[in-house]
Amino acid sequence: MRVAVLSDIHANLVALDAVIASLGSVDAVWHLGDVVGYGPEPDGVVERLRQLGARGVRGNHDAAALGGPEIAYFNPDARRAMEWTRTTISAVTRDWLAALPERFTDGAFTAVHGSPREPIWEYVTSASVAAENLAAFETPYCLHGHTHVPVVFRERAEGRLDALRPEGDARLELGPARALVNPGSVGQPRDGDPRASYLVLDTEPATAEWRRVAYRIADTQAAMREAGLPHFLVARLEVGV
Ligand code: ZN
Repeated sequence: MRVAVLSDIHANLVALDAVIASLGSVDAVWHLGDVVGYGPEPDGVVERLRQLGARGVRGNHDAAALGGPEIAYFNPDARRAMEWTRTTISAVTRDWLAALPERFTDGAFTAVHGSPREPIWEYVTSASVAAENLAAFETPYCLHGHTHVPVVFRERAEGRLDALRPEGDARLELGPARALVNPGSVGQPRDGDPRASYLVLDTEPATAEWRRVAYRIADTQAAMREAGLPHFLVARLEVGV
């Protein structure tokens, strides 16, 4: 089975459409949360994911969009964008977000937004944080997002992991070692490459293929300006940080 894994789309419909156009043949689409927040087209992104029959999990921005207390931890720009998101999203979008679970398991994969032990909030930013999370999932592999940086943490020896950061398009056989795998962000990459990032999984044998896709960043920025979203969020898209 081939599965496209999309994370942190953040209401960036132009980026999502570029990714969809690049998918080729896949059997399923999974998403790892933060479908909304920051970006200008939350309803459009949810509509696309509904059309694709995407299966996914809830991120901290999705929880905040539903009125959750998570907004209290946002920085001022993220909070302003979230207040705008809350007033903009349709009832259909709200219901769809509300139905997202915090995790799901399918075959060899567990899917979460942040980390398996703290699915909404924890950032898996290092091999040591990844190691602390090995006990929090039972499958060989865990898919996670939240940091907006493509990376895989693989177990080298009992409880010891190393970090491998794919640059650009990269393919990796996951092999027998347990691993935490991050596809990077579709809608707001933060690894210095502004192109949308996602991955395609092959399940037999387990292989991860990271892909980068250029999209019309200026179109998303124009929509953000029109919506009155914070300038910092507009500017960061073109540098990918
Ligand atoms: Zn995010």
